[in-house]
Amino acid sequence: MRSELYIDGTWTPASNGETFEVINPATEEVIHHIAAATAGDVDAAVKAARRAFDNDGWPKLSGTERARYLRAIANGIRARQAEITRLEVIDNGKPFPEADWDIADAAGCFDFYAGLAEQLDSNPEETIALADDRFISKAVREPIGVAGAIIPWNYPLLMASWKVAPALAAGCTVVLKPAEVTSLTALELAAIAHEVGLPPGVLNVVTGAGPVAGQAIIDHSQVDKLAFTGSGSVGSKIMAAAARDIKRVSLELGGKSPFVIFEDSDIEKAVEWVLFGIFWNQGQVCSATSRVLVQEGIYEPLMARLIEETNRIRIGNGLDDGVLLGPLVSKKQYEQVVAAIEAAKAAGATVACGGTRPEGFDKGYYLRPTVLAGVPLDSTAWTEEIFGPVVCVRPFRTEEEAVALANDSRFGLAAAVMSADDVRAERVAKALSAGIVWINCSQPTFTEAPWGGYKESGIGRELGRWGLDNYLETKQITKYVSEDPWGWYIK
Ligand code: NAD
Repeated sequence: MRSELYIDGTWTPASNGETFEVINPATEEVIHHIAAATAGDVDAAVKAARRAFDNDGWPKLSGTERARYLRAIANGIRARQAEITRLEVIDNGKPFPEADWDIADAAGCFDFYAGLAEQLDSNPEETIALADDRFISKAVREPIGVAGAIIPWNYPLLMASWKVAPALAAGCTVVLKPAEVTSLTALELAAIAHEVGLPPGVLNVVTGAGPVAGQAIIDHSQVDKLAFTGSGSVGSKIMAAAARDIKRVSLELGGKSPFVIFEDSDIEKAVEWVLFGIFWNQGQVCSATSRVLVQEGIYEPLMARLIEETNRIRIGNGLDDGVLLGPLVSKKQYEQVVAAIEAAKAAGATVACGGTRPEGFDKGYYLRPTVLAGVPLDSTAWTEEIFGPVVCVRPFRTEEEAVALANDSRFGLAAAVMSADDVRAERVAKALSAGIVWINCSQPTFTEAPWGGYKESGIGRELGRWGLDNYLETKQITKYVSEDPWGWYIK
């Protein structure tokens, strides 16, 4: 386990020697200490990234050359898949098979953006058809500059990859700050980048507190672009900081995503996707479908099966075989989720199952997967993100009512709809106000497809070619090709 900052190609302690604790959420044990970067350390990292961008030629390499590094990083992740997966489990708490999936996905993300970096070489510019044939015009894409990437704790290496891979592919250099509760695998990413010979300063990783290290990134005048995933409150601060000197900004924030299930759906399939939509990663998923709307004809039988299957989910240490629900990431998160369940009960909701600590777990931030029924529409349990294994289920009568209830939210990250009637499912998918809509499933995410939210769930899109666009400027180059003088002032 690494414990130092990675700045300008070297490992270094924090300049004031400060560290913070790494706690395994399954055991509550302090398993490590990591450097807590100061504003001065962040300044050094940004300056290194600036030099690597301005002088040392990273943006000047061809896309194909940059792609070679990205593929080497992908292979480096794969070569250490089991070891990195284990680090993710002891840091974040998620079950081993989930972490294994994330790490494979992270490697795939680097491969995917290697492909897009290569395509930048084959399509370096786009000719623009102009109505005026005295001019020819083209659009060229150029990297924005130094990217400051700030990520949350729910998918540590994957969120790092969603930002670092497209940024490097585009030719940007990066200062990455992982969440303070899950920094281990971001440091491994730096180690892999180092091993494959990524030039110094191209990727810098600064661990530490949001209000110190994160704030220093967003306030830094030499950072050109901020890419953030996390809470809406910090997202607002980032947008305000970006506004001061017009930094480019992309935000992936929270959600309270609906899942509309029509009564022609297969109940078994519906229950499986409801479970996957909320209990994967202990519900600590920005796109979790945490508001489930079930058409009244199947509400009772669906609830019965949902409760049965929810109670069957094996809870435990993510390193143990067969575990499908690990502990929440931290004490703070555990307490917040428990408080949200208590608030839901106080508002009149019924706990259909879960809601308490599982028996036999004296240590670790474990919580039984929870189904809430009768949740009032104006209660915070229905309107605000809980970010834990807690789903609110309500019946509805008509399609119109379901769409209105689903869209009645300040968030718009994701939504899901299930129906045997494909025409209806497609119609509802179009009517839902969300950046991602799943039909007959919930949560599968693909590196090739755009990811991001409507409304207060964010700005911009990650993944796919949209993810690369986040790190590119578009330059217009227009040439006057007529032999005739312009003839405005001089006739
Ligand atoms: P958070 O906003 O508290 O922290 C996210 C990151 O921001 C961390 O690295 C933190 O250190 C940093 N940070 C905190 N204060 C900062 C400041 N003043 N300046 C700069 N950086 C600062 O969120 P979290 O608790 O880590 O994650 C949970 C939230 O993230 C949830 O609301 C969830 O919905 C959201 N999320 C969204 C997505 C998505 O793709 N849309 C993905 C994961 C998580």
